[in-house]
Amino acid sequence: MSRKLVVANWKMNLTLEDSKDLIQKVANSVSFHAYVVIAAPAAYLHPLKDFIVGKKNIHLAAQNVHHEEFGAFTGELSAPMLASLGIEYCIIGHSERRIHFKEKNEILAQKVSQLFKHGICPIYCVGETLEQREKGKTYDVVKKQIKEGLFHLKDEEIEQIIIAYEPVWAIGTGKNATPEQAEEVHAFIRKYITQKYGEEVADEIPLLYGGSITAQNAKSLFEKPSIDGGLVGGASLNAEDFIQIIKANFPDK
Ligand code: PEP
Repeated sequence: MSRKLVVANWKMNLTLEDSKDLIQKVANSVSFHAYVVIAAPAAYLHPLKDFIVGKKNIHLAAQNVHHEEFGAFTGELSAPMLASLGIEYCIIGHSERRIHFKEKNEILAQKVSQLFKHGICPIYCVGETLEQREKGKTYDVVKKQIKEGLFHLKDEEIEQIIIAYEPVWAIGTGKNATPEQAEEVHAFIRKYITQKYGEEVADEIPLLYGGSITAQNAKSLFEKPSIDGGLVGGASLNAEDFIQIIKANFPDK
């Protein structure tokens, strides 16, 4: 199976009508072999699941899930609920959740397990802050996020995961990591997972880059051998830009 994909993270943006319009434009414009995942606001997942029927290159992700299966957690959403809607993916550990909602690796590990238990693929985000990068701690930070968040998984689970390297200093700042900087960390991540699980397992895992991807810089990032695709925030809200980014990873045949 190809490891290539492009994921949109819409965060808390767009109306339902905007969402459908954007998906329709993407589905009409990108080639049938493209693999696109849209992380839509939770309230839109059900109507969008109906809307994407017949759009084979479009898949849906949730942006978050609770770490418990059910119970008195007002306002939260569980993995079995997402599974009952037929949602295939879920972003876990985005830096905005780590920072604003104080989510720690231990809780994220539970979320990842909940998702696997209910047949949903986690898109697990890691990445260092600017201060950590400047202190030379990038690899230590990423290692700890992966070890504590994922290394409890069995081989047959971790080989299904998607990992997004998203340096915090590049998210929503207009300052992307250079293709060389991203490639270095991606190669490190695959090597680290290889050490624990072996090459066969590590080779299955798509590694996405995220952080100020644009229609202009996408190709140079996706060309790198260890970058399998992108997690795209701001630029995924504009159909023309997002389509160009998808085409950078899935050129028309
Ligand atoms: C993100 O939020 O995951 C992200 C990468 O955002 P942006 O593309 O806007 O930097």
